[in-house]
Amino acid sequence: MNTITLIEKLNQEKQLEAEEWVFLIENRDQPTAEYLCSLAQRIRQQRFGNRIYTRGLIEFTNYCKNNCYYCGIRRDNQKAERYRLTQEQILECCRLGYELGFRTFVLQGGEDGFFDDARMEEIVRTIRRAYADCAITLSLGERSYESYQRLFAAGADRYLLRHETADEVHYGKLHPPELSAANRKQCLYNLKKIGYQTGTGFMVGAPGQTAECLAADLDFIRQLNPQMVGIGPFVPHHDTPFANQAGGTLELTLYLLALLRVMLPDVLLPATTALGTIDPKGRELGILAGANVVMPNLSPVSVRKKYELYDNKICTGDEAAECRQCLARRMESIGCQLTVERGDYQGGNCDV
Ligand code: SAH
Repeated sequence: MNTITLIEKLNQEKQLEAEEWVFLIENRDQPTAEYLCSLAQRIRQQRFGNRIYTRGLIEFTNYCKNNCYYCGIRRDNQKAERYRLTQEQILECCRLGYELGFRTFVLQGGEDGFFDDARMEEIVRTIRRAYADCAITLSLGERSYESYQRLFAAGADRYLLRHETADEVHYGKLHPPELSAANRKQCLYNLKKIGYQTGTGFMVGAPGQTAECLAADLDFIRQLNPQMVGIGPFVPHHDTPFANQAGGTLELTLYLLALLRVMLPDVLLPATTALGTIDPKGRELGILAGANVVMPNLSPVSVRKKYELYDNKICTGDEAAECRQCLARRMESIGCQLTVERGDYQGGNCDV
């Protein structure tokens, strides 16, 4: 086996065997990464030109009933200062976002029982009525089929739920026993079946992650065929069980972004805040490795620091307008442009 030949095979066939993924990950070197990134760039350019899609992220609650070992807003983190935005505050974020040119709002939060189906429905319906031309994306974790269905009927179009890791054993190292990879995956199949444009993804360099785990992630993503894939480096948080674990690297994250772009040419692929956190030029480099989405923060500055999933998260002090301008400049510096288009998935076959 040879890395360049495998990349060519991936480009032709859009899939690889598990051993081939492992080989490509374990034997990566600089010439391979350069070859892969320039191919991924070319594919992004062909499909999307210089357009980078934006999604306005509203982190509306940091209460969470789960206890994921990596996450700063896990239930047992007594030091996290908890907050919830009111419906009015959420709508105010949308209003500001709309003015700034956002046509997708992403409502993300911990798994907070306060936001039950009735409350979420009311929020989604209100945003839907006020912004008929916008996409509403939810990222609320695992819920029942019926719950996803009700929120879809209320007007939500998209849902982000990273699978975190496709390997059941590895999943167990990152989560307490009440959470399972099987349930997480079932949620994703449910979301697709209901008709959501669905995003999944994983953390790069999560504790215990092996090349075999990543091979399983890439193969799960191929099978799910999601409209979006969010990946970013694992970044330790000081008040979690993983406080002293090593974080994921820029280099491996870029390599995986590029592999994803080659495997799924049409997919929406964000250059994430976590990537921008571990390197000052992380998001720009992500775009240059094939990413085509950025998700600036629309949350009120007063709560930004409290939605601390990991240490040193960037952009926690900036107003939404500053965040957007900063990203616009960053994208222009690499020859790209933020677009106000909704950026719906344009790919062909998106059946489950
Ligand atoms: N409660 C929602 C939203 C989770 S937060 C859900 O369950 O989907 C969004 C993502 O942040 C998670 O899916 C996880 O992949 C990522 N994340 C959490 N902690 C992190 C950390 N320490 N480093 C990097 N990414 C992290």
